Amino acid sequence: MTYEELMDFDAVMAVYEPVVGLEVHVELNTASKMFCGCSTAFGAAPNSQTCPICLGLPGSLPVINATAVESAVRIGLALNCSIAERCRMARKNYFYPDMTKNFQTSQSDEPLCFNGSVVIELADGESFTIAIERAHMEEDTGKALHVGGATGRIQGAEYSLMDYNRSSVGLIEIVTKPIRGAGERAGEVARAYVTYLRDMIRALGVSDVRMEQGSLRCDVNLSLMPKGSTTLGTRTETKNVNSLRSIEKAVLHEICRQGAILTSGKTVKQETRHWHEDGTYTSPGRSKEHAEDYRYFPEPDLVPVVCPPSWVDELRATIPQAPSLRRAALQAAWGYSPLEMRDVVAAEALDLIEATVAAGCAPQSARKWWMSQLLRQANAREVSLDELPISPQAVAELQNLVDKGILNDNLARTVIEAVLAGEGMPGEIVQARQLGVVNDQATLDEAVAQAIEANPEIADKIRAGKVQAAGALVGAVMKDLGGKADAGVVRELILAKLA
Ligand SMILES: [Zn+2]
Repeated sequence: MTYEELMDFDAVMAVYEPVVGLEVHVELNTASKMFCGCSTAFGAAPNSQTCPICLGLPGSLPVINATAVESAVRIGLALNCSIAERCRMARKNYFYPDMTKNFQTSQSDEPLCFNGSVVIELADGESFTIAIERAHMEEDTGKALHVGGATGRIQGAEYSLMDYNRSSVGLIEIVTKPIRGAGERAGEVARAYVTYLRDMIRALGVSDVRMEQGSLRCDVNLSLMPKGSTTLGTRTETKNVNSLRSIEKAVLHEICRQGAILTSGKTVKQETRHWHEDGTYTSPGRSKEHAEDYRYFPEPDLVPVVCPPSWVDELRATIPQAPSLRRAALQAAWGYSPLEMRDVVAAEALDLIEATVAAGCAPQSARKWWMSQLLRQANAREVSLDELPISPQAVAELQNLVDKGILNDNLARTVIEAVLAGEGMPGEIVQARQLGVVNDQATLDEAVAQAIEANPEIADKIRAGKVQAAGALVGAVMKDLGGKADAGVVRELILAKLA
């Protein structure tokens, strides 16, 4: 692997305008596949969920999944798209071992949903409008497993295994129009848009939208054009961008890579590139085909899809509120200040806090844990908050232990570290490590007496009325008890003894 030259980001921005295009694939959560009755359940034995239709055997005839069409229309409506009253599926012809039919059933010039737009919000509250070119229906491919190589890629593998369980699971591909005018915020805008899509589609209930499991996948198109120019530059398409954080990174990386190429007088090659999650670099894949290479033609084995306007209107009534409205409602319910809410949204902690509150935690306490210690941990590990190995239920349980006086804040922080280290739920950890606060009066009294005896001058000062000197004795008691005491209670005991 050779690392290509990168140009300083600000230097690129001084000369070029980035143009971003995002293609997002959403795997639908319908019970059966797009054109047959096979189950879509995840994790089944390889090739156990296949039939002649999704294997593309000769003579098999597909029938479109009505629920998948409904899900697609609802996504289109949530993206403010026009919905075609009548559209056809098309064959996209190409050979790849994960697709036995030698073509993918997709849509070409008759997409189901087209000409939409969404308004997204950036972390600082600034809004940005993203125009949607189309959202069309298609089917997923099977999965290849390359065995024997170091990287799991086909290069260097000894052999490959094919699993067609995913073959023909319903997909919706959502394509933006070229996103211009974002300037140096292009990466942020791309990330915020995909976050918006994820939240919106999750609210629709039509997909799990889990990037780490591949039910939401994003390809990032990027080109640079000289500032003031009106001609789009040559774009690259970066594949396998599997987290929200990586979308932003991939945009910034391609800007710096293409900037270096253009500045040195060379031309950018139109190609697909692979994003490497670990190394944060991209490497070239195949050079990009043109649409005409796929020889699209209308699928002869499927009847056209007809969506009567009255049915579309019925579906329109089922579209949940936009994420910005939901945020406003949550902010009011939780009593967060605008600044607190802005930070929560920027940290992508909204869903986590909502789940923590639902598990019985007070909103301000939920915010405190997620936005302080846990956020620091996520940043240190370079993962998003929801990738940390701690659940909202665990955070709610932790706060419950604090509320009951079993943990103080210091001990609670220790328990969080233990949860993150995989030691179990907070209650289990407190038991296993005997971490609870010392509430036993005799133990507390003895520790206080010892501290007074060991520090006679400080004790005299307190007796003489210098109450602020009590801090040193509180510290001594806390040290003696390994931090497992309520400092407020200890202070009161000391003052009472020396009164
Ligand atoms: Zn099947």
